[in-house]
Amino acid sequence: MDEALVKARFRDIEENYKVITENIAQAAVRSGRTPDDVRFMAVTKTVDSIYINHALSLGVDLIGENRVQEFLGKRDELNLDGVEKHLIGHLQTNKVRQIVGEVDMIDGVDSIKVANEIGKVSQKKGIITDVLVEVNIGGEESKFGLDPSKLYETVCEMSEIDGIKIQGLMAIPPICTNKEENRKFFSNMYTMFLDIKAKKIDNVNMSILSMGMSDDYVSAILEGSTMVRVGSSLFGRRVY
Ligand SMILES: *Cc1c(COP(=O)(O)O)cnc(C)c1O
Repeated sequence: MDEALVKARFRDIEENYKVITENIAQAAVRSGRTPDDVRFMAVTKTVDSIYINHALSLGVDLIGENRVQEFLGKRDELNLDGVEKHLIGHLQTNKVRQIVGEVDMIDGVDSIKVANEIGKVSQKKGIITDVLVEVNIGGEESKFGLDPSKLYETVCEMSEIDGIKIQGLMAIPPICTNKEENRKFFSNMYTMFLDIKAKKIDNVNMSILSMGMSDDYVSAILEGSTMVRVGSSLFGRRVY
């Protein structure tokens, strides 16, 4: 690796991190909360360990990886002491066995089937796995996530599965060209979150609302997000 390039990218990450944490803090205050009420997740898919470690050295304490194989392959190179690790996005049932027990939370549980499998494997390993339930807020056929109209009944059903504990909701809005439209999705999502929280379902802890990515995390926070998932704005554009 070219040392000058590595150093330049380190500086970019530092600068980006500063800007993002300031934006998060301001948005949190504007939404009537404190900066500590919104957690920052660094999304590390495709990013080399050296850059992830640099972000961790700056104070990032939560990372999200999409791919089971990629995470398991690079985690030994990461300085993960005191760092919370989440698997984000769609998880295939046949990958559940490999990831349960290896991360602190599985964000993006999008079906009873995968929830059952996580529960089954967790019980076998003698643990309880924290999960977020993924909602398809745009109702798009191409996206994973639960249909909002079936959310309550599905969360109720999932709440009875042994071996998992629901900690909140996660959502990816449709790709909108219109920022106002996006805010509408976030605000609908927040309403759903409050509604479900108010129902006080047994074994469900509605404390996390994960929404907002590089392009829209400020709007998401203004509409009530408690956790933002930022990749490219921190590490630079992904190279696949
Ligand atoms: C990749 C990814 C992100 C981060 O996306 P950016 O636009 O790079 O911030 C967030 N959430 C999920 C589920 C992702 O897959």
